[in-house]
Amino acid sequence: MKLDVNALRYLSKDDFRVLTAVEMGMRNHEIVPSELVGRIASLKHGGTYKVLKNLLKYKLLHHDSSKYDGFRLTYLGYDFLAIKTLVNRGVFLAVGRQIGVGKESDIFEVAKEDGTVLAMKLHRLGRISFRSVKSKRDYLRHRSSYNWLYLSRLAAVKEFAFMKALEEHGFPVPSAVDCNRHCVIMSLVEGYPLVQVKQLQNPDVVFETIIGLVVRLAEHGLIHCDFNEFNIMIDDDEKVTMIDFPQMVSVSHRNAQMYFDRDVECIFKFFRKRFNLSFHETVDDENDVEIDNDESARPCFSSISKTAGSLDKELAASGFTRKDQEDIEKFIESGLEGDVDSGGEEDGTEDTDVVEVEHLHILEEEPLNGEENAGCQRNHEACQNGVSENDSD
Ligand code: ADP
Ligand code: MG
Repeated sequence: MKLDVNALRYLSKDDFRVLTAVEMGMRNHEIVPSELVGRIASLKHGGTYKVLKNLLKYKLLHHDSSKYDGFRLTYLGYDFLAIKTLVNRGVFLAVGRQIGVGKESDIFEVAKEDGTVLAMKLHRLGRISFRSVKSKRDYLRHRSSYNWLYLSRLAAVKEFAFMKALEEHGFPVPSAVDCNRHCVIMSLVEGYPLVQVKQLQNPDVVFETIIGLVVRLAEHGLIHCDFNEFNIMIDDDEKVTMIDFPQMVSVSHRNAQMYFDRDVECIFKFFRKRFNLSFHETVDDENDVEIDNDESARPCFSSISKTAGSLDKELAASGFTRKDQEDIEKFIESGLEGDVDSGGEEDGTEDTDVVEVEHLHILEEEPLNGEENAGCQRNHEACQNGVSENDSD
């Protein structure tokens, strides 16, 4: 999805007030009745109508009159709210080009005042999965309170908490900078995803490092669950950085062994195919018999001592609650089971099959009846355009 932040410069305080009113309304409504938006925003002289028109023009809202007259946020609208908050906090000043597009996220460069470039990950859970409506019907019927805002926010909170904890325990991950709504700001990793790397000086060393990471994670109580060539970055010195943490689980998860083995298998398979690594081991010198010892080269989940740090328990206490974890796991697991159709939409008005939202906590820091945000207009003006289309390769 294209993220054109140009409009940020032209949006007024009232525009953001109404946008935030729709966000608040979405706590309890899939489509927020126009009249409720007006009441929450409570602009003088009935100014809400004009503002709504403006927000629609910029595709920050979607208008729906199928059941009653109302509005909901688009991805772009939610992006703008997060970006504005982070810009106001001084986390960054300008949004640059898109550097990655995942199945359920978009990644952009952002720049700080001093020129430092960071990475901004906008989570888009549900972009794909909720569109395969048929396979999700049962799931949604029983869990009507799920929607993409809630899930994307949850994914961001989880990713941020895990990244921070992993960094503190010396794992090679991006540095976690800040988080708001569905948006995570982290340091920019130099290098490329392993999938783009055709040659390595020391493939066996890189391989050992990567397998060592899977093992060390398990020793600390965690499994990545999506550990593959797309989520491992490698720089010119062949230094490895792992990314992408929303799906991580504890070693006490009921499917821990399967997830662990799957992560290991992905790495073995990739290195065998791409770098022709073979995992033979000569075990019988006397008879000079080389045994294909693939299996014994693999780390064994049950024999790993999981006492190094119990990061899983630390994280459970970090504000990312057990209920959050359960919610996101249910969604991710259902995504693995259902058939998923691919492709996003360009206009930011994706068809999300959402029923009702019970427990969004998306407005932690901007109560509508609060004071004005000093400096906010200045910061909007500082936001630049310049986002390119996907450059996924
Ligand atoms: P998804 O969950 O959608 O797979 P990822 O976190 O794996 O998202 O990011 C998708 C792509 O964006 C990565 O493959 C990588 O190319 C790029 N990317 C993500 N985070 C960073 C970062 N911190 N620095 C540089 N590139 C990144
Ligand atoms: Mg990824």
